[in-house]
Amino acid sequence: MADIIIVGAGPAGLSAAIYARRAGMSTTLYEAEMYGGQIVNTPEVENYPAVAKISGFDFATNLYNQAMNLGAVLEFDKVASIAKTESGFDVTLASGKVDTAKAVILAVGASNRHLGIAREEELLGKGISYCATCDGAFYKGKTVAVNGGGNTAVEDAIYLAGIVDKVYLIHRRNEFRAEDVLVDAAKKLPNLEIVTPYVVESLLGEPKLTGVELTNKEDGSKKTIDVNGLFVAIGQEPKTADFKDLVTLQGGYIEAGENCKTNVEGIFAAGDARVKKIRQLTTACADGAVAALAAIDYIKLGV
Ligand code: NAP
Repeated sequence: MADIIIVGAGPAGLSAAIYARRAGMSTTLYEAEMYGGQIVNTPEVENYPAVAKISGFDFATNLYNQAMNLGAVLEFDKVASIAKTESGFDVTLASGKVDTAKAVILAVGASNRHLGIAREEELLGKGISYCATCDGAFYKGKTVAVNGGGNTAVEDAIYLAGIVDKVYLIHRRNEFRAEDVLVDAAKKLPNLEIVTPYVVESLLGEPKLTGVELTNKEDGSKKTIDVNGLFVAIGQEPKTADFKDLVTLQGGYIEAGENCKTNVEGIFAAGDARVKKIRQLTTACADGAVAALAAIDYIKLGV
């Protein structure tokens, strides 16, 4: 039996593993995809204290190495279900394996929200992308659009402007949710055009995307812009569906306060999947520390 099983090897999960291992807890992380979570898709991280500039991939890799060097174990397997037992928890993996732990930290993160419009799934990889750093290079010399008004969308648009001929940044409101420093930087780029207040109504082109039809949110007017790619960056959805019968959720997010304790004793929540206001790299890592220390208290002191 492991002391702590951590579900998800993003910044929250890996930070939790660092704290757990430093306290001598045997620690296993289960990750369904790549370690690092969403930060691996961020071109530049410039707001992590004491690290002026680092790529998201390098940040994630440093974190991963730090946790592994401290003796954490990472297995690439999806957690299918978790059940409370008399001695702790049974964690059943998609592979069929059942692992056991005294405490569990859910650091499952979130995945990209889809627009939910016709042909979005069909055009995935044929013009539709949710990851500018992964797919941007395919659009060198072409025209693309980014949809969204948060930090991700504006960062993606800036990043793409360095690769493609022209970027449209489409957002449904005239005001951006993204930080001013990013919006100001985007406005200075000669090949980046801001298109507000518009929503993407339909996707054009067969078999590849050739354009998008937009609707003006204020006056209902429509217009079409020709693009080879559309990068959708309209926020995230928590990856909590498999745990909806295990812990209390609120709007899909795991209900847990700043102490990261869920309604189930011995289960803790950390990172973007937890109910919270600010979802940043710093707050994910901080959650990891808090959740691990709470799990350690639970194991050692029963509180
Ligand atoms: P976000 O902050 O939730 O922003 C999502 C954006 O998409 C919003 O502008 C929203 O519009 C728009 N949107 C949502 N649903 C839409 C729909 N159906 N159609 C059209 N537009 C839609 O998401 P995010 O940018 O991915 O960021 C997620 C979190 O990570 C945030 O806390 C963010 O600060 C953080 N983050 C931080 C950094 C950084 O610090 N460098 C980088 C990336 C992300 P409205 O504004 O009108 O609601």
